[in-house]
Amino acid sequence: MGLLRRLQNHPAFLEKVYGLTHTAVSSLQPLIERIGYERANRWLKGGEEWAKRATFDCHMCGQCILHSTGMTCPMSCPKNLRNGPCGGVRANGHCEVKPEMKCIWVQAFERSRQMPQYGDEILQIQPPVNRQLEGESAWITMLTGVDKVTPKGWVGMSSIPVIGDR
Ligand code: SF4
Repeated sequence: MGLLRRLQNHPAFLEKVYGLTHTAVSSLQPLIERIGYERANRWLKGGEEWAKRATFDCHMCGQCILHSTGMTCPMSCPKNLRNGPCGGVRANGHCEVKPEMKCIWVQAFERSRQMPQYGDEILQIQPPVNRQLEGESAWITMLTGVDKVTPKGWVGMSSIPVIGDR
């Protein structure tokens, strides 16, 4: 395992790095807007892909939710599940598709418990992934807000009335 990949076992450190990067990228938004999002996307995505692939086995989905999934990339699950494990997790916590690999969601949950700031976001229900954003810089899709656009008809759990609330 490479040095950067080992960082995944230090989720508290990684969430701090995420928080700082998020602040830095957000403060650069006026400049990026002037440069143009498309051009900035072309400039940024190579570096983003290199760093995130080396650290998180990133698949460049273009809608990064790492901080909500224990700094563990959900797209490295062989089934690309973004809302928790399937029913096939083995008794030893390994994947049913790749028995040599620990389930991504077991890792995500364990790591999220070490994250004081974003750890509880693992309880949020994620919308379906937009495959049209594949290969784009997730920092740019975050700045434009396109990463938050949900498919027509999708209703988040928070909008569904709970029985007894009426
Ligand atoms: S959630 Fe998407 S952008 Fe984030 S590390 Fe995984 S594949 Fe990459």
